[in-house]
Amino acid sequence: MHFVGMLAFHLDILVTYDIGITVLSASASIIASFIAFKLTGDTQVNKVRIGIGGFFMGSGIVTMHYTGMAAMRSEAAYSYDPLRWLLSAVIAMAASYAALYLFRIFRQEPKFSKRKLLCSIVMALAICGMHYTGMSATLFQIVGSRGTHHLVHDSEPQLFLLLGVSISTFLILGISWAAMLFDRMLLEKMAFSDPLTGLQNRHSLMNYFENQFTFGNGTVLFIDLDRFKTINDTLGHDIGDLLLCEVANRIQSCLGDNDTVFRLGGDEFLVASLHSGEERTSAIAASMMQTVKQPYFIEGNELYVTASIGISLSPQHGNDRASLLKAADTAMYYAKNNGKNRFRVFDNEMDRQLMRKMELEKDLRKALVHEEFKVEYQPKWDSVSNQMVGMEALLRWQHPVLGVISPGEFIPISEDTGLIVPITRWMLMEVCSQNKQWQVDHKLFQRVSVNMSVRVFESQTLVQMVGDALNAADMHPDYLELEITESIAIYDKEDTISQLHELRQIGVLVSLDDFGTGYSSLGSLDELPVDILKIDQIFIRKSNNPSKQAIISTIIAIAQNLNLQVVAEGVETTEEVAFLQSRGCRLMQGYYYGVPMKPEEIVPWLNSRTAKYASS
Ligand code: C2E
Ligand code: MG
Ligand code: MG
Repeated sequence: MHFVGMLAFHLDILVTYDIGITVLSASASIIASFIAFKLTGDTQVNKVRIGIGGFFMGSGIVTMHYTGMAAMRSEAAYSYDPLRWLLSAVIAMAASYAALYLFRIFRQEPKFSKRKLLCSIVMALAICGMHYTGMSATLFQIVGSRGTHHLVHDSEPQLFLLLGVSISTFLILGISWAAMLFDRMLLEKMAFSDPLTGLQNRHSLMNYFENQFTFGNGTVLFIDLDRFKTINDTLGHDIGDLLLCEVANRIQSCLGDNDTVFRLGGDEFLVASLHSGEERTSAIAASMMQTVKQPYFIEGNELYVTASIGISLSPQHGNDRASLLKAADTAMYYAKNNGKNRFRVFDNEMDRQLMRKMELEKDLRKALVHEEFKVEYQPKWDSVSNQMVGMEALLRWQHPVLGVISPGEFIPISEDTGLIVPITRWMLMEVCSQNKQWQVDHKLFQRVSVNMSVRVFESQTLVQMVGDALNAADMHPDYLELEITESIAIYDKEDTISQLHELRQIGVLVSLDDFGTGYSSLGSLDELPVDILKIDQIFIRKSNNPSKQAIISTIIAIAQNLNLQVVAEGVETTEEVAFLQSRGCRLMQGYYYGVPMKPEEIVPWLNSRTAKYASS
């Protein structure tokens, strides 16, 4: 503005400009602007800083103007009217301050705004106002032999200067514009891509489904890594991040031109395929699972990870983004629940089951408060001496609308939600108090076992819980037994073992439930502080099969060698009793001897049994 303004100003004598001083005057404004914006650029600035910024900006304009004037070379001399000079400086400072202040307020506004325009107008006023006040403060005079002559006239504009200034102005505008465009592109890239893997992200997914996806013949794969959290927790997030990048690369390597992969966050990825059907998508899923599960070598660690994949197809499972994603998510969830490391194509039955699960989950939270849980007791029987040797407490949920829900259905939900911890606490209290009542009222002294979940061990509250329950019921620990499964034993072996030692120190017994179905290696069985092995009912169910017979015999032999008691579960027939006895197992539990019963049924049942054996 200043330089164009100077060119518009004409005297009727020849005027040239000293290049060095002109450049100097331009640098003054650049440096001053830099300082002013630096001072006021933070999001949090106070008025004092804006004031200082305004002072620098204003001084910059003033310095630029008057240094620029000093670059004028002509036969005229000039001087300034001091009052107007002062006024021009005040205008520059005040308007700069106002512009910076307004800019500070309106900078958050998106894109173009009228208020931002106002800022620039105020800033332009600062410069123009200063310039023209400054010019009016200037007195030009030629002091020669003919006396002093005031100059006000103009002459031919200097074309090359005008051109130079105009070109530079447009150049500056052009550069600013390009920088802004570049910034915007960068921002867009950041907003739509995942910083860790460089894949497109969730926002990009929205665009993709709006503009590119082929509803009617497209498919969606929802990929979630199995047990990734364990790697993250045990080896740290840096290794976790590197693993995710590597997984992202491997997923990409399985895709074709019509497939796009997105990272949804955490260990979740999504692939959308255009013009694709069930067969091709299943093939992609299979190759992805195969590729992902190959070993990873990351910073000296050999890592293994698998993926669970859910697939949805358009149009069968929906014709909009939301339904396709939801269907794929549901199918993925099923793949996970069915043992992980597999893929499943969505079907409507999954939806029904999921709805039921969600409903149960919601109601489960209220079940304890509403006292909907009951405990049933199933006897454990010594088949040789024909005596009861204990009972197993089994949890029952009487749902107000859906009726009795099997523990096989609600225990996994309570484990997922963590509700198993308060439920187990309640269970221990209830069982101990019931047992104490049998002891006091009926002189019935039996050890009752309670099933434990891995989540309870994880919560690190079990020892406390058991102590509290025994204290509250004032019951001897001999009459309490905890049933753990092999999965608990291997979950975090060291920690489990130390908790089991503490529990045995209190005096309660521990049994290993469902033995033979888990993954624990027989090799470390002796390290587990347990007293009893319970052979899982699936072996008993097939005990007429010679290979199952061999397994049962082996389990019994191992138990005997390790000095553990054995209890066979799910015994239903005389043949099973005979077979088990022939192999040296005398303790049994199952419908053959007694079904799970309500607490008030136990004593009458036991009396009738005893009477039966006494008479036979
Ligand atoms: P489990 O600990 O293996 O319990 C034995 C299951 O076998 C019980 O099923 C029992 O009713 C059933 N059963 C007993 N004898 C026979 C038989 O002769 N034939 C057949 N077919 N089945 C028999 P239930 O009560 O449905 O419990 C299922 C599972 O739920 C239990 O398996 C246990 O793992 C879990 N569970 C039950 N109550 C609790 C609890 O309070 N806490 C935890 N964490 N889990 C529990
Ligand atoms: Mg059990
Ligand atoms: Mg069992």
